[in-house]
Amino acid sequence: MWCWGRLHRSGTRRGPAVRSWNPLAAELLGSSAVMLRLWDRALPQAQQAMLIASLGAGDREAARRVSAFLAGTSRLGEANPARMDRFSLGDDEFPEPRPGEREAWREGALKAGLPLPSPEERPYRAAPEHITAAVLPRLIGCGCEGLTDGEQCFQQPHRGLFRAAFALNSHRGARLHDDDVGKAQRATGGAAWDTVRADLVNLVASSVGVTPRRLPELIQPPEPSTLSGFDRLVAQCNRLASHASPSRFASPTDSPTELWEASQQQAQEAVTRQIQGSP
Ligand SMILES: [Zn+2]
Repeated sequence: MWCWGRLHRSGTRRGPAVRSWNPLAAELLGSSAVMLRLWDRALPQAQQAMLIASLGAGDREAARRVSAFLAGTSRLGEANPARMDRFSLGDDEFPEPRPGEREAWREGALKAGLPLPSPEERPYRAAPEHITAAVLPRLIGCGCEGLTDGEQCFQQPHRGLFRAAFALNSHRGARLHDDDVGKAQRATGGAAWDTVRADLVNLVASSVGVTPRRLPELIQPPEPSTLSGFDRLVAQCNRLASHASPSRFASPTDSPTELWEASQQQAQEAVTRQIQGSP
């Protein structure tokens, strides 16, 4: 809950106190909730059919939930030591750090057990989408040994997990490259951060109602190209979920139920606005 997602910089405007950051967990759930809502309201039949075949073993409800799970976990790679440690540093992402904000966040995060790097450490950086592709298949079913440097597992039924993890995000319009995913491995933060990411994966899975150990049998795109277009749908979920106002940012002390209820409410509003064509 102390991994941050989006930040709010309102300057010194007076008004009701607004949280300055939204937990990443809340944003992952927001994307999942939007995906579920899109399935119910707006997803074209052809796209549904493709997802039912690729992510649901022929079952519509399974495909609906698995695609919501994947939309939620598409930003999982943001939970990495280098990115998390940049909170309110005064760099391009945080041009105006608020006094004491970084210290307060670090204290809360360390107390909650987030394995942040020490001030002397300089953790490797990699693009979050490459980290997602590097870590997600391992967290949802492939425990095979001997895979190094971003190698994909070709054992059945793990192959589909890698295809899906690579299909979640395209990088500036291009398919993710194995080499970049391999290099991202050293920016993951290792086992300590895998624990953090596993918690996020479990939160998303239990909220959308998928059983993680069933994922390898469900995620079986017949060809790598079968999931083409899925990254755009996932990006749409992430975009619609990110329109939530900072006044509705979650708190790190919110319960999973509170987070999920708020996400569903906001998703309903965002998808309705989208269908009605308003911004
Ligand atoms: Zn495997």
